[in-house]
Amino acid sequence: MENCVFCRIARKESPASIIYEEEKTIAFLDIQPVNAGHSLVIPRSHATELRDLSEEDGAHMFRIAMRVSEAIDRFGRSYGVKPDRKELEKTATRIRENQR
Ligand SMILES: [Zn+2]
Repeated sequence: MENCVFCRIARKESPASIIYEEEKTIAFLDIQPVNAGHSLVIPRSHATELRDLSEEDGAHMFRIAMRVSEAIDRFGRSYGVKPDRKELEKTATRIRENQR
């Protein structure tokens, strides 16, 4: 969708600290984290509700969310409760490098 902020991030028209991406899914650090490693996992196709996704795509997105969560547990929690931007970028880099 043209003006959807998440679609803009998925198309890389808006900046984001991307920690995981593939054909159907993209994950990035939240711009206003409530805890270290706070991330969003979204489908590349526009969806405002979970029910907008096929069951297969929803299951895939949840599988990716579990992997991202595991990676954050391993690397993203060592920066304290309210990490600053630089620390989040370091977390994103470590997660990306570990996923390859
Ligand atoms: Zn969208």
